[in-house]
Amino acid sequence: MKSFFDRDRIIYFLRDADAGERRMLYATADTVRRECVGDGIHLRALLNISNCCDRACLYCGLRAGNKNITRYRLDRKQIVDAAGRAAREGYGTVVMQSGEDPVLTPEFISSIIREIVSRHDMAVTLSLGERPREVLRQWYDDGASRYLLKHETSDLVLYGRLHPGMSFTARMEMLSSLKEIGYQAGSGVMIGLPGQTWESLAGDIMLFRDLDVDMIGCGPYIANPHTPLGGTSKKDGNQVSADEQTVLTVTALNRLVTGDTHIAATTATKTLYSGGGLYRALRSGANVVMPDVTPSPFRDQYLIYPGKEPVDGIAGAAELRAELKKQTGLEIAGGRGDRVRCHS
Ligand code: SAH
Repeated sequence: MKSFFDRDRIIYFLRDADAGERRMLYATADTVRRECVGDGIHLRALLNISNCCDRACLYCGLRAGNKNITRYRLDRKQIVDAAGRAAREGYGTVVMQSGEDPVLTPEFISSIIREIVSRHDMAVTLSLGERPREVLRQWYDDGASRYLLKHETSDLVLYGRLHPGMSFTARMEMLSSLKEIGYQAGSGVMIGLPGQTWESLAGDIMLFRDLDVDMIGCGPYIANPHTPLGGTSKKDGNQVSADEQTVLTVTALNRLVTGDTHIAATTATKTLYSGGGLYRALRSGANVVMPDVTPSPFRDQYLIYPGKEPVDGIAGAAELRAELKKQTGLEIAGGRGDRVRCHS
């Protein structure tokens, strides 16, 4: 199965395949998903602990310098309480995510990780940006077991243009450090970034396999007018589109080339396709949903792009589970939901 999807075939499915071929691809990915990770949708409680950020990524609303955003940082009690509520709602994982916020010191995060794992039978995933290896090691020893660090694009020129002062090599090194330390490591890209080519998107999919990542999250790029990249992008033949068809094709290809990874149906997929896209992604290879459990009013302030419509994690937790089951015909998985290698 793996060798079938070489670079040329991946590019073909992304750029050239017709609707019938894509339907086949989604159905095959759905079968491989069932064989490799089973019929359970894994829910991860997403807790956005700070929207403060030191970086200047050209596409992101959290970027330093954006004045059109209300900044917040949860305090220790708000974080621990929100994780506790998520545990009571039945989540087996809490994902603490933020901008690159130096005020979130290693010690602060350490003490929160220790408190959560001592109180709840819950996996802790971190997505706090680039951090030194010794800090990552400390957080792992404290009890964090997964880390998400998207590589965003593997096109080096595009990466350089979109991320002033950052380095693609540093991201790659951190992803390999994470795995060496023992974390389950996640990566991902945005689909339809201005200047992104079909060839580079194929390269991203192959990179997930080559890095042997444990988790993948890919969603459409959504233009944010309060960023330098701004409103709309120019469309030429080689520019990747951020439409549903492309997102589903990437989701399916990710499943087919990586087999047993955890693949998220992302919030951005829901935002762009008003509900249905999320369910279709779950029947095209994805097996993870990350409902937002950030308390109000902060929840609406984590504005990486306009019109964000997160999957509600607490107010309607039971309804969400029922709706996911009804719309997809799948089950909701219990437990922590670590990656389990499937030898096929
Ligand atoms: N700082 C963390 C991640 C914070 S959340 C880290 O470096 O890993 C930011 C994530 O939202 C990014 O990883 C990016 O993939 C996504 N994102 C940012 N701006 C976006 C946009 N305009 N459209 C879609 N996704 C976006």
